Amino acid sequence: MSIIGKSPEERAAACWQPTSDALEQPTNDLGRRLLTGLPDGSINIGFEAVDRHVAQGHGNHTALIWLSKDGAQQTLSYGDLAAMSSRFANLLYDHGQQKGDRVFVAMGRRPELYAAALGTLKAGMVFTPLFAAFGPEPLRTRMEIGDANVLVTTKSLYKRKIASWRQEMTSLRLVLIVGDEAPDDCVALAPALQEASTEFLAAHTQTEDPALIHFTSGTTGRPKGAVHVHGAVQHHALSGRYALELQPGVTYWCTADPGWVTGTTYGIISPLVNRVMMIVDEAEFNLERWYGIVERERVEVWYSAPTAIRMMMRAGSEAARGYDFSALQFLASVGEPLNAEAVVWSNEVFGRPFHDNWWQTETGGIMIANTRAHDIKPGSMGKPLPGVVAGIVEPDNGGLRELPDGEIGELALRPGWPSMMRDYLHEQARYEKCFNDGWYLSGDLAMRDSDGYFWFVGRADDLIKTSGHLVGPFEVESALIEHEAVAEAAVIGIPDETAGEIVKAFVTLNSGQTADEELERDIRGLARKRLGAAVAPREIVFRNALPKTRSGKIMRRLLKARELGLPEGDISTLETDEK
Ligand code: ATP
Ligand code: MG
Repeated sequence: MSIIGKSPEERAAACWQPTSDALEQPTNDLGRRLLTGLPDGSINIGFEAVDRHVAQGHGNHTALIWLSKDGAQQTLSYGDLAAMSSRFANLLYDHGQQKGDRVFVAMGRRPELYAAALGTLKAGMVFTPLFAAFGPEPLRTRMEIGDANVLVTTKSLYKRKIASWRQEMTSLRLVLIVGDEAPDDCVALAPALQEASTEFLAAHTQTEDPALIHFTSGTTGRPKGAVHVHGAVQHHALSGRYALELQPGVTYWCTADPGWVTGTTYGIISPLVNRVMMIVDEAEFNLERWYGIVERERVEVWYSAPTAIRMMMRAGSEAARGYDFSALQFLASVGEPLNAEAVVWSNEVFGRPFHDNWWQTETGGIMIANTRAHDIKPGSMGKPLPGVVAGIVEPDNGGLRELPDGEIGELALRPGWPSMMRDYLHEQARYEKCFNDGWYLSGDLAMRDSDGYFWFVGRADDLIKTSGHLVGPFEVESALIEHEAVAEAAVIGIPDETAGEIVKAFVTLNSGQTADEELERDIRGLARKRLGAAVAPREIVFRNALPKTRSGKIMRRLLKARELGLPEGDISTLETDEK
């Protein structure tokens, strides 16, 4: 049933509604079994992540090893984190906040951020992380959309990006400044934490109580504020165990910043719930630093993203020589398609392949993954996790039709898994559009093969129609980066009178390569051999960098808008850029 043209009530009914049935799916039970829960059936993410481990006698186990930018190191046990987060929860209540209030955090990866996240969740308030690198406008817009009540930030960020408009945001009642000092209208976090008690009983939140708001990356347009509930922790627990091999005591490093959903779900919640030892690095990507951390900290499970992996590949295998990566047991990647090339490369360099997995801000956790349970097919995203029902669909008479294996269509999921978003803030219509005919629609195109593996084709918006062929950018980009000179590639469709669209590629080169006509011809030749003349790019442009979001995703829509002289749209998440 299509929801277009229906009354508001019918539209609401057509979307997914939480029912006790959905929450009692047998696979949800699998996730629940990894948790303790609170009396009267309530469930609290913060409690599951730290307090229960302390209650079960693991208070002395290391929870977090923090590596500061300047080389200092701090180790926090589960007991330390429980106490720090309890202080933070008490502080919120001491300053008049209430259950359900929204606590925003904009700061670098420092221990206070982790205490704030866990304390907010234990307090039954809603945690919303933002990238510290956002400018004043992206910070303000997101805080307005999310009706921020509390902000935790640093003095410098506050002065540069927030002070000028803070008074205009009437919902914002409390600004906490990391450190010992704060401007007059703010509260210094360090002394306030010191005064607060280390005893706090986690709020008895219900499965459907809001816990987290995550803004999407803004790759395809204006970012959306996806709301997640406390019950999501069932999937956080389960997916960490199945897709990332998170076991108690494992040394684990998730390189994502908590400003992006990966950095919170798999950089805070899932690892702590699974009682691992997390590495947190305050610094940004630096090849030697990263290799040094993996070696020195004896990282066993490493979760990163294609953009970082491609940067490592760009530096060449020689740069990795001499490091001891022997502790590594399991490598995983998310955020963008992981080219087959990268899987093979990592196997050679680290002795382990990167396992690609697929999910979205909206899904709240990993949905499809290459796990240890089955062989990797390089270039594929893997198979749905337990409790996840995925299909490939296409529109059919106002409803949807499931496509057979081997056909390309929209990747859809059966609604009801615990970490599914429950709303896009203030955007009911956009939320409703994600659901149709008993499916959640991802907006991504994919194909399932006869072995049940899913293959990413491209975002629905990025699909190119050229001379009667449908071309997914991923296929073309993967062929381009097979060329030894190419580091990264982004492919878009340019309107053309005869072909409908022609394929145009933007590429960056590996270090030591020179961009010239001969190289362009050579790359085009390889693409033609791999893809055929109809699909291979007609034009290849060399760039020093590609426009990317702060979560490391190539913004093809921006390349296209610039190419066609169209408005650039929302670029609040843009990080690297070169026009
Ligand atoms: P917006 O929704 O604001 O445009 P976004 O979709 O990039 O931004 P995220 O939720 O951070 O925001 O990213 C999810 C998207 O990232 C997926 O829909 C998919 O397009 C892409 N993605 C994530 N993992 C993979 C993967 N393993 N392979 C291919 N694409 C992936
Ligand atoms: Mg999206």
